[in-house]
Amino acid sequence: MTDPRRQLPSIDALLAGSGVAALLAVHPRALVVKAARAAVEAARSNGGTAPPEGWDAAVRAGVERLALPSLAPVINATGVVLHTNLGRAPLAHAAIEAITRVASGYAALEYDLGSGTRGSRHAHCRDVLVELTGAEDAMVVNNAAGALLLALSATARGGDVVVSRGELVEIGGSFRIPDIMARSGATLVEVGTTNRTHPQDYERALNPGSRLLLKVHRSNFQVTGFTSDVAVVELAELAHARGLQCVYDLGSGLMINLSEWGLSGEPTVPEAVAAGADVVAFSGDKLLGGPQAGILVGKTGAIAACRADPIARAVRADKLTLAGLEATLALYRDRDVAIREIPVLRMLTEPLSIIKERAEAILTGAEMRGEAQLVEGDSEVGGGSFPEAKLRTWLVGIRHPAPDTYVERLRSLAPPIIARVAGGRVLLDARTIFPEQVETVIAALRG
Ligand SMILES: *Cc1c(COP(=O)(O)O)cnc(C)c1O
Repeated sequence: MTDPRRQLPSIDALLAGSGVAALLAVHPRALVVKAARAAVEAARSNGGTAPPEGWDAAVRAGVERLALPSLAPVINATGVVLHTNLGRAPLAHAAIEAITRVASGYAALEYDLGSGTRGSRHAHCRDVLVELTGAEDAMVVNNAAGALLLALSATARGGDVVVSRGELVEIGGSFRIPDIMARSGATLVEVGTTNRTHPQDYERALNPGSRLLLKVHRSNFQVTGFTSDVAVVELAELAHARGLQCVYDLGSGLMINLSEWGLSGEPTVPEAVAAGADVVAFSGDKLLGGPQAGILVGKTGAIAACRADPIARAVRADKLTLAGLEATLALYRDRDVAIREIPVLRMLTEPLSIIKERAEAILTGAEMRGEAQLVEGDSEVGGGSFPEAKLRTWLVGIRHPAPDTYVERLRSLAPPIIARVAGGRVLLDARTIFPEQVETVIAALRG
């Protein structure tokens, strides 16, 4: 008996078939060939059995899969507003328009339109950051981890940096303060204990090689109980009295006080600047609500040193980031506009009644009768910001015999819907589902 695997069609024969030829009219040949090879390989490893749906259909399905972009939008029904795995901050319309404008052509990125000569990319966003934060100077890089690496290298390379043991934190996957410190060329000097650090701890650690006192905001956790730490104001004074500098890794980039919405405890950028640190570092895509970026604001001399450091070139921001960030920052000139237009702020401050209306619209539209109901719960800020904050919210809770299979199905849709399972129920948080996504979610739940 001949091995059925020897009966498999050749790639050329598959490409010549009428169904596959039609694919070639709309897709690049290389893509169709890749899908045809994959279909034949799949049949070979299946003992030589032709695909049950037929060769044409198998190749077409393969082409469609391969043509899909790997990075595509999803609907965030998790209720985590700053979901790092889902791309953190959705952008404001003004930011999207600004990015589109510079993306489609040339832009005066490093060009001085007045003199017609070379300019600096660091000029963009600088003035608006100075205006909004009260700092003397500012610069923008790729992300906040890069910003801190740069600030440490520029202000303390070859010297000692004194940090409290309570602030040697890990912030998401591969960002650990001691590792960043090592790469910056500065030497870490740990002082105090995990729960308590006092001004004398810093003072005792100072020596002629000391260059910097570093304050790291404990973004993603809280220390409670018998604790004490040294406030940035005091740390900056201590540093300046000894001729040293003070850098504050702030993390979130909160620009306006949100305590009237129950979100307190996170220092704002203007407060951090006013505390007197020479450099304050923060993210563009956390509470600030802009594109991924790292922002450094502070004293003239310290920021100038950052600009001049070779690492600045390695972590520089591109024109799309600068355009999107500048447009986002401009919205902060009017607090109400910022809260209305910046999606992160809108979601964090949205009245519970509006969230409930959206959850109800989904529930009613989905017509799931007894299996689904409104559930009261909590959303999370995410992105390591306000770790303890509980944001009351309304969720659509769906009872299903196999909830894990159900959320898997929601993830397989186009666009995928990311929900979670808790207490044997599938939960969709209406806070992070945009009003314009409600119909799509309803259709998914009905389907
Ligand atoms: C989030 C965070 C960072 C890292 O910011 P990225 O923008 O993710 O690079 C650094 N420091 C603190 C304190 C943070 O909270």
